[in-house]
Amino acid sequence: QLPPFDYKPRPYKGPLADDVFARRKKFLGPSLFHFYQKPLNIVEGKMQYLFDENGRRYLDAFAGIVTISCGHCHPEVLNAIMEQSKLLQHTTTIYLHHAIADFAETLASKMPGNLKVVYFVNSGSEANDLAMLMARLYTGNIGMISLRNAYHGGSSSTIGLTAMNTWKYPIPEGEVHHVMNPDPYRGIFGSDASSYARELQDHIDYGTSGKVAGFIAETIQGAGGAVELAPGYLKLAYDIIHKAGGVCIADEVQCGFARTGSHFWGFESQGVIPDIVTMAKGIGNGLPLGAVVTTPEIASVMAQKLQFNTFGGNPVCSAGGLAVLRVLDKEKRQSHCAEVGSHLIQRLRSLMHVHDIIGDVRGRGLMVGIEFVTDRKEKTPAKAETTTMHERFREIGILVGKGGMHGNVFRIKPPLCFTKNDADFVVDALDYAISKL
Ligand code: PMP
Repeated sequence: QLPPFDYKPRPYKGPLADDVFARRKKFLGPSLFHFYQKPLNIVEGKMQYLFDENGRRYLDAFAGIVTISCGHCHPEVLNAIMEQSKLLQHTTTIYLHHAIADFAETLASKMPGNLKVVYFVNSGSEANDLAMLMARLYTGNIGMISLRNAYHGGSSSTIGLTAMNTWKYPIPEGEVHHVMNPDPYRGIFGSDASSYARELQDHIDYGTSGKVAGFIAETIQGAGGAVELAPGYLKLAYDIIHKAGGVCIADEVQCGFARTGSHFWGFESQGVIPDIVTMAKGIGNGLPLGAVVTTPEIASVMAQKLQFNTFGGNPVCSAGGLAVLRVLDKEKRQSHCAEVGSHLIQRLRSLMHVHDIIGDVRGRGLMVGIEFVTDRKEKTPAKAETTTMHERFREIGILVGKGGMHGNVFRIKPPLCFTKNDADFVVDALDYAISKL
């Protein structure tokens, strides 16, 4: 039984799953990705819950795709979007609109150091595209460095930064170098940040001209299965990159907006200040919105040409984004994430004493990964078992993300209104699903 939740979805009279699925197959482009064996027709959402066509409730432990920060259809965010939609749905940054300036100002006030200049775009890929362009223009260098097991986008340029085989196509990717990700669980140097940093330095010395444009990393690799970089790594890496003439980009598409609990931005947990920060997903509670924040000095290179996109920072998204920042603050979501997240992680770790299939429990706040293995010593990915448990979770009424290079990681990244009761329910469900394997 899901934890009680006082909300009644509207009766749904629209098309049913089989029909929607048939038309999706016919009219939407194919993709390798099959999330569930039987299609799930989601018709309504309220806070941390989703409802299907039959009014069945699901605990959304994946927050859409890590997009829902405040909660599905959070009343304050919804109200801001609706009020702005009634007045003006679109204008661009070539005109003035207070919502765009209000949002940019509030976002900049959340940033440390001299990160005060905001560009709005429509997605995470677009944000990373723009960051890469800035890095290349500002430094005059071409080479980009990203970490293995990273996902930074699916556009034809950001796919080069992405370093997961499942997303790759055989296309020219520009000059991108992938160095070892400091993965404490699977990495050959364990948590020894300085050895991974030495590998980065070696890569620059042997594999490049010695000069690079930029380095991009998430603090916790999201699609890669919530892999938190070994402590201390980013400080060492940023020093190396700066010495090689490059700029450092923090991809906060998943780690940002209070999700990690300990800090508002993921990079803060490694004690660094990036030169460029990219964001999307949680920034708009599901609206198509992304941003790049940088210093006035780096931004000045963009003044050489037109820098503008049609929808970026439109008033509806800006009003929604501003409401998200207010809600996160007002509802103290950061400390909430820290508290619920540590409870969840602690309870999951105690399950490791009972079930050998849990190889690793990791993460921070409400960005948690559970890696399943058939053999703890060899760390053999329990791929089929993960798929079975993923289906079982759906039967129970919990939607979780699946990820990692081998598809053997549960990604628990719920809306930030997820409660301790919800966390307990997920842990009990996992205990049950494993025992049913
Ligand atoms: N960076 C990260 C860390 C992401 O997780 C994603 C999306 N999964 C992206 C960039 C790309 O974002 P989008 O899908 O909005 O283009």
